[in-house]
Amino acid sequence: MPHTETGFQDFPVAAFPYADRLRRSQAEMARQGIDLLIIGASADLQYLIGYAGHESERLSVLVLPRDGVPHYVVPGLEAPLLHEQRDLMEIVPWEETEDPVAKTAAVAGPAALGTIAAGDELWSVFTIRLQQAMPRAHWAEGGQLLRPLRMIKDEREIALLAEAARRTDESWEEFLTTAITGLTEWEVRDRLMGLLAARGLDPVFCNVGSGPNGASPHQTATDRAIGPGDGVVCDWGGTLEGYNSDVTRTAHVGEPSPEFVRAYEAVVAANQAAFDAVRPGAACQDIDRAARGVLTAAGYGDAFIHRTGHGLGLSLHEEPYLVEGNTLPLEEGMVFSDEPGVYFPGQFGIRIEDTVVCTTSGGRRLNDATRDLRVMG
Ligand code: ZN
Ligand code: ZN
Ligand code: ZN
Repeated sequence: MPHTETGFQDFPVAAFPYADRLRRSQAEMARQGIDLLIIGASADLQYLIGYAGHESERLSVLVLPRDGVPHYVVPGLEAPLLHEQRDLMEIVPWEETEDPVAKTAAVAGPAALGTIAAGDELWSVFTIRLQQAMPRAHWAEGGQLLRPLRMIKDEREIALLAEAARRTDESWEEFLTTAITGLTEWEVRDRLMGLLAARGLDPVFCNVGSGPNGASPHQTATDRAIGPGDGVVCDWGGTLEGYNSDVTRTAHVGEPSPEFVRAYEAVVAANQAAFDAVRPGAACQDIDRAARGVLTAAGYGDAFIHRTGHGLGLSLHEEPYLVEGNTLPLEEGMVFSDEPGVYFPGQFGIRIEDTVVCTTSGGRRLNDATRDLRVMG
């Protein structure tokens, strides 16, 4: 689709930036000794050709050789959707009675005797059928191949992530203006997702954990009614032209207890310490250690039960992961979450999450919704 609505670029989709990404993928294939890359409908596909594809039982795959022209094997009925991609690659439509796996193997040609990387999100049913059709190939993970490309965001990607983050911040500021006492978690979820939609984002998710439910980090939402004394963890986001926002804020209904306030302040400090540790060359695990050090010193080490962050872009969770053991050095253009949290089963949870870009001079926060503890009615 053309990306004209936000005015970030006026080039036809085929000219920018996809031809360059395909070329760089091929260079990476040469470097890693991969002969062929097969990508199904996914964020990888969106990244490479500007079309995410349609996930279904009908096989549709981009087949990228290390040298030469990319092919897209696609159900004939979907081929018209690819008119803007025609300059990038050869379209190979298959009709309802044809075997798309055989067609893909034919496109692969001699690469079927070499090493084939399958996209991480290629459905296993397609991977297995393709492996059966090309039994002499060695198979590798496509994620390893695309990781160095997708991890480093270009200027337009950062602009889209920043705009998605800004609109999500606005949704929180508006959310804080209305009481939530008596609402269920589902109703809070609907309200926040509605506030995203009103700002032109495609709402993707909203997890709401109130009171003891906040102690479960991936709590979705329940019919629990929210009332005075509840901490409320809201983790929500949407996409702008495919690029994700992902924010967490924790509010409190009525006056919080001193324990809640103390834990909240520790999480704010941990979020800040992780942010302050961001610079090119710092290892991913150093960012995690910075946040964890603050929480451990405050006596909350055991309550911080997850990594400090994950990359985000066209996928909500992608490389790099800010976790102990990951020595990957940060580079300019990497974008990731900074989301320390503490969880006390049966009582409450607190998490604060921002999106951060690594720049030459350190971290740049894309989120600026208040991190102050807000008491709601
Ligand atoms: Zn998560
Ligand atoms: Zn989140
Ligand atoms: Zn996140």
